[in-house]
Amino acid sequence: MNTFDSSGSLPREFCLRMQQLLGEEYDDFINSLAAPRTYGLRVNTAKISCEQFEEICPFPIEPIPWIPGGYFYPEDVRPSRLAFYQAGLYYLQDPGAMTPASRISIHPGDRVLDLCAAPGGKATAAGAALMGEGLLVANDISTSRARALLRNLELFGISNLFVSNESPDKLCSRFPEYFNKIILDAPCSGEGMFRKDEALLKDWSSEKSRELSVVQKNLILQAADMLCPGGEMVYSTCTFSPAEDEDVIAYLLEQRPEMSLSSPAWYEGFSSMDCALPAGTCARIYPHKMKGEGHFLALLKKDGSCNASSHTLLRTVSSSKTDKNALQWVRIFADELGLDRIGGKMIDWSRMEIRKDKVYYLPEADTDFRGITFLRNGLYMGDLKKNRFEPSQPLALALHKGDARSVISLDVSDERLSRYLKGETISIRPEEATREKGWQLLCVNGYPLGFGKLVNGILKNKYPAGWRI
Ligand code: SAM
Repeated sequence: MNTFDSSGSLPREFCLRMQQLLGEEYDDFINSLAAPRTYGLRVNTAKISCEQFEEICPFPIEPIPWIPGGYFYPEDVRPSRLAFYQAGLYYLQDPGAMTPASRISIHPGDRVLDLCAAPGGKATAAGAALMGEGLLVANDISTSRARALLRNLELFGISNLFVSNESPDKLCSRFPEYFNKIILDAPCSGEGMFRKDEALLKDWSSEKSRELSVVQKNLILQAADMLCPGGEMVYSTCTFSPAEDEDVIAYLLEQRPEMSLSSPAWYEGFSSMDCALPAGTCARIYPHKMKGEGHFLALLKKDGSCNASSHTLLRTVSSSKTDKNALQWVRIFADELGLDRIGGKMIDWSRMEIRKDKVYYLPEADTDFRGITFLRNGLYMGDLKKNRFEPSQPLALALHKGDARSVISLDVSDERLSRYLKGETISIRPEEATREKGWQLLCVNGYPLGFGKLVNGILKNKYPAGWRI
C-alpha cells in the first residue's frame, strides 16, 4: 500500500525523492502536476512535408520548438476525427514522449529495432524517417499491444516492417550485432505520466520501481548486444526514478565498455541530474521546465564500424515460394488502378511473396526471421480470391500522392469522407473521377485514404469493417 502525502494523492516516498532531486524547484514541479497537460501531434513526414501540412491543417497548431515535425494543438480539438488522421498524416503523442525518437538519427536504409515498441509512438517516427528504405523491426512482448502497434504502423503507411511478438532474449540470441539503430523505450514506473494517467499513480510503489530497474538493466544489455559496431541506440523511460534512468545507463557502461554516451541535441528546457555520468548526456524532461510529460533519455554509441550481416538473405531464397502465375491478379489490379509505385518508389515485383492466399511486399533487406513469432513481415498487399485480387487497407495507406492514377480526391471538409469512413457508399460526380468505373483510390486533399469501386456514379465502399469509425 502506498503512503500518500498530506497535500493530496502523491506517494510520500515519491515526494521525498523528488524533493531531494529538485531542491528549490520542487514546489514548481508539484504545481505543474496540477496544471493542464499539453497535446501534441507529429507529422508523418514520409507522406507530407511540414509546410504542406501547415497549409492544409484546419485547426490551430504551433510548432514544438525541440521536435522537428511536432506541433502543439488545443485541448478542444479532436484531430483523430479528421480524415487526415485516417490517412496517416500524423500521430497523436505527448510532446515529452516524442523526444527520444527525435534524438536518434535514423536515415533511409538503416536497420532499426524498436525493442519495446507498442503502441508505436516511437516506431512510427522511426518508420517515417526510413522513407521506405531499410528495415524497421518493431517488437513487443505483449500480443494485444503488438496488435495495436501493427495497426498504428500500417496507418502510418510503413511498408518495410517486421512486427514481432517475442521475448528480447530470443531476439538477442538470433540477432547479435545486427541492427545499426535501436530504440529501447523501456517498461517503467511511469512517474512522468502521473498527470496524464491516474492509474499509474495508483499502481506506483518503490518496490515496483526497484524490480523494474532489474528488468531494464537486463533489457539494455540485450539491446546493446544486438547493436552492430558503430551503431547508435536511444534508451528512454517516462519516469523520474534514477534507479530506472541514470543507474541503468551507468550499469550498461560498466558491463559493456564498448558502449559510450553521446550528447543528444540539447534543448534549453532539458535538465540533467547531478551524478557520475558526464553532464549534458542524459536528458530529463520535467513538466515544470517545458511543455510535456516527464521523460528521460540517453543516447549511446557502440565502438567500431558495421559490417554486412549474415542474416540478410538473397532475395531468391524467399521468392522461390511464390507462384508467379498467381501474381498476375495483382498485376491486373495494379494496371486497372494505374499503380506503378508504392510509397513513391517503383514496384519491385521480385519482392512479392504469396503466403496461402495473401500477398506481401517484402522489405528490401530480406532478413532471416525463421523461428521468430511475428504479426507481419512486409506490407500486406491484399488477398487472392478466385480469379481476382482484393487490395488491403495497409496497401492504400502505404501509397503516396501520385502513386496511382485512378484517383478520386475530396476536400477534408467534404461530408462524404465521414460517410466513407463509416463504411457507406458515396456518390461521385463524373468530373470528380479520373475514370468512370472500376477500382479507385479515394483520397483526402490528394492523400490516399482507402479503396472503392465506382459503378454508375456510386463508389462501392472497400474500407474494411475493422478500420471503420
Ligand atoms: N515505445 C512505445 C511508444 O512510444 O509508443 C511505448 C513503450 S512502453 C513504455 C513499454 C512497452 O514494453 C510495453 O508495450 C510493454 O508491453 C513492453 N514490455 C514490457 N516488458 C517487456 C519486455 N521484457 N520485453 C519487451 N517488451 C516489454
